[in-house]
Amino acid sequence: MAVREVEDIFTDIIDRTKTLDPANVRKWFDELTVLHLNGGSLGIGCPNEATAQFLQDNCKRSFILAAQQVTGYLITVDFGVSISEKSDGSSRRFASGSGDLVLQKKHKIAPLKLHPDYTFDNFVVGPSNRLVHASCVAVSQSPGNTYNPLFIYGNSGLGKTHILHAVCFEAQRKSNGAVIQFLSCEDFVNRFIRAIEEGDLSGFQSQFRTVDMLVIDDVQFLREREHSQEEFFHTFNALYNNGKQIILSADSPPGKIPSLEERLISRFNWGLVTRIDPPSYETRVAIVQKKAHLRSLDISDEIAEYIARKLHANIRELEGALTTICAVATTTDKAIDLELAQIALEGQIKAAIRHISITDIIEVVTSHFDVRLADLQSKKRSQSITEPRQICMYLARNLTKHSLEEIGGHLGGRDHTTVMHACSKIGQAQKSDPQMHALLGELTKQITQTPKA
Ligand code: ADP
Ligand code: MG
Repeated sequence: MAVREVEDIFTDIIDRTKTLDPANVRKWFDELTVLHLNGGSLGIGCPNEATAQFLQDNCKRSFILAAQQVTGYLITVDFGVSISEKSDGSSRRFASGSGDLVLQKKHKIAPLKLHPDYTFDNFVVGPSNRLVHASCVAVSQSPGNTYNPLFIYGNSGLGKTHILHAVCFEAQRKSNGAVIQFLSCEDFVNRFIRAIEEGDLSGFQSQFRTVDMLVIDDVQFLREREHSQEEFFHTFNALYNNGKQIILSADSPPGKIPSLEERLISRFNWGLVTRIDPPSYETRVAIVQKKAHLRSLDISDEIAEYIARKLHANIRELEGALTTICAVATTTDKAIDLELAQIALEGQIKAAIRHISITDIIEVVTSHFDVRLADLQSKKRSQSITEPRQICMYLARNLTKHSLEEIGGHLGGRDHTTVMHACSKIGQAQKSDPQMHALLGELTKQITQTPKA
């Protein structure tokens, strides 16, 4: 294939992916390169490991589908870090073998798994998080020497995980070669349990006690896990005594974590304990703008202010709002203006204050498909009945807090495995079939926007 041709095809694939998966589009998609496209395999070069991992985890399916739609062939897709401009100044080769591609799985040491969005650059600083931000910057500049341990706490969705990733990115960039372990406390506990089962406790211990920096997210997970607490206590001591940096996050301060051993509480308080608060209106506006920029979305100040005014509980909601607006703009093929934002968000905002019932969902779905409730509840298994039934289950699972059993109960007394199967089937179709994607979006809009008496 000619180089030009490959590049054109690749551009089409990227464009198609952007339409298929608007929520995951990032500004740096423009920096992706094709490393090879041959033998039914497409190698995509990413700016760094974090972006490659992000695509691998979130976008692989959309890329495969896009490649298939653009070329008409079944194509496997791999993401790697491109070894960019060669030292001799020659540019990248296209349509070459996989020689230029450093595939993730070939790394000998498990790489730090960091989310490319979660950097200091992308973190908006305001009164609610200024102290946390400053202490994290200080620690990343000089690990082990400033605040040790650094303990960050605050409610869910306020940026704890984000800022921990940012510290790791920065410490890694500065130190070049320092061993950093970053994991959720749940991971720590699970790996500890597995080590015991496999009789490899010393392997586990050396993994954690020999690092230069240990970052553990959500340590409230240690509550009531006595054995893990004991292991963590020894890990902590080993690192601390060697001047290694420890950073922890939790949903409450050390003393408020239920059934946490006294000796751990006191150690967690040795360094700096700092709180992250809900963001003010101005910070929320800035966050919306930052997130939009990250996704190459063009939104006016008016829209950012509208979103920030309407949603304030946690920052995840702000992001959800952008995703919704983006999806509505793509499916309706309209430009993003305040009116579109208002229409798109009406559902989300109302849902935040209003409770959606399974009956609301059934009403919208039966009227859309022109079927009767009795049919949905019957034993009928024709496609024309099964599909709306499964869609009801999927929407009920996503829009209400009902259990699988309760949802099955509303739809003719079906058991929870049937509901689970329906949810995964429709969920997959939603990802792979643009028509299903649009249909679910439309139904959701109707369900969340139907005025309630
Ligand atoms: P937590 O770990 O406290 O539950 P996260 O770190 O997962 O919260 O944050 C939730 C979302 O909000 C993430 O997408 C994160 O990027 C975003 N976020 C939180 N605080 C900020 C901030 N100050 N600036 C930009 N984005 C933020
Ligand atoms: Mg978190």
